[in-house]
Amino acid sequence: MDSEHTKIPQATAKRLPLYYRFLNNLHGQGKLRVSSKELSEAVKVDSATIRRDFSYFGALGKKGYGYNVEYLLSFFRKTLDQDETTKVALIGVGNLGTAFLNYNFTKNNNTKIEVAFDANHDRIGEEVGGVPVQHIDDLEKHMDGIGVAILTVPATAAQGIADRLVEAGISGVLNFTPARITVPSNVRVHHIDLAIELQALVYFLKHYPLNEED
Ligand code: ATP
Repeated sequence: MDSEHTKIPQATAKRLPLYYRFLNNLHGQGKLRVSSKELSEAVKVDSATIRRDFSYFGALGKKGYGYNVEYLLSFFRKTLDQDETTKVALIGVGNLGTAFLNYNFTKNNNTKIEVAFDANHDRIGEEVGGVPVQHIDDLEKHMDGIGVAILTVPATAAQGIADRLVEAGISGVLNFTPARITVPSNVRVHHIDLAIELQALVYFLKHYPLNEED
């Protein structure tokens, strides 16, 4: 992203793909404009936050008109580099890894899993969801142009693989293992622990029940 966009707060930047996906659908349906209320209901972000987010990129909705879908989309496309596909590698073709490979990330997105790796020889040479599976020993041979990696290996293997990925020039890791990995400060790690997320949801439901009027 260029310096113009570095001023967007991180919390706003994180919501951009969400907005983008919804606006893309609206555009596909031939809609020309959208109100912040409509957007708010669809993406489950309150409309004041949406208005503030949009003001960062100079999109000031007009009262009674809303936002111009085309304008927002072209802005998001530029900001999210939608024209440029980020190549992704997936490490660990187990249950979770296989599900990701079969899930078509490119449908609404600017990312594509190009290659997968596993330590299990039985899986090598296979294609899962159209993605070739290579042996983990050959990782470095297949990392050309790959900027991001998804880690779905057992926790014990996570750090060693992360080190190799960093060495191979990766800039981002989506870590689905429970292991907290250490990487240099120029590499971004997003950590998603599905078991903890589920536990947190159950905890919140129990201790902070939602009222319909809220
Ligand atoms: P999941 O956690 O995705 O449900 P699983 O229960 O099928 O996975 P795990 O033991 O978590 O299996 O391993 C996930 C995948 O990672 C397996 O396909 C396994 O062969 C692979 N794997 C294990 N160690 C390594 C490693 N060092 N390098 C690459 N792949 C590995």
